[in-house]
Amino acid sequence: MTGKVKTVSVKREGRKWFVVLTAEQAQPEPLPATGSAVGIDMGLVNFLADSGGAFVSSPRHRRKAAAKLEAAQQALSRFPRCKARDRTANHQRAVEKVADLHGKVRRQRLDHAHKTALTLVREHDFIAHEDLRIRNMSRAPTPKPDPDRPGAFLPNGGAAKAGLNRSIADAGWGVFLTILHAKAESAGREVIAVDPRNTSRRCPECGHTAKENRPAQEKFHCVSCGHTAHADTVGAVNVLRAGLVRREAQRP
Ligand SMILES: [Zn+2]
Repeated sequence: MTGKVKTVSVKREGRKWFVVLTAEQAQPEPLPATGSAVGIDMGLVNFLADSGGAFVSSPRHRRKAAAKLEAAQQALSRFPRCKARDRTANHQRAVEKVADLHGKVRRQRLDHAHKTALTLVREHDFIAHEDLRIRNMSRAPTPKPDPDRPGAFLPNGGAAKAGLNRSIADAGWGVFLTILHAKAESAGREVIAVDPRNTSRRCPECGHTAKENRPAQEKFHCVSCGHTAHADTVGAVNVLRAGLVRREAQRP
């Protein structure tokens, strides 16, 4: 932490107590120019891939934490809804367990986001990333209709689990981008959000855009020119290009 400590507070999450320090940074500290520009592609397997071919893995315990959280939420859901003062000791423990795990996920996410953002801001003058709002809109899950009840949908355990993993990941990217923008601003770096559509389907070598270019989750293979690469790296290269185009367009 840099700067002067401004406030000290103590906060409780479940049964754990934390000391929270906030620091005041007197002046933004611009970092020296590096001459480097980068695009990043955020994913589920890797937290992000960059246009230089590097990867940042997801917070190590995220999957494990998601599984534990799911189990704890299920255990909690078996207790009847009631006011806090009417809870039995077991019910109270179940409530605290869920709060504990939420807190753990939150702290891991924050720590990982700070480290990842700091590395990017130190190494690059210009950072392009996908606009998550556009991405979330174009990626709505497809529910399965129930054939016996028109208008209703089948419960799908797999989808619910994927949904939880997905929502934990989405929250992680949101926190990361907020921190990235703040750090970039104080370091005098430029960050641009771009429309993510087609970034994983467009060939960076020849420009051919087709969903057939992506035969598997991690694989990019251009059906027109034969270019082969990790799909997330291709996404990041396209994000960088879109970012540079946008920057040119914004210049007076
Ligand atoms: Zn190609």
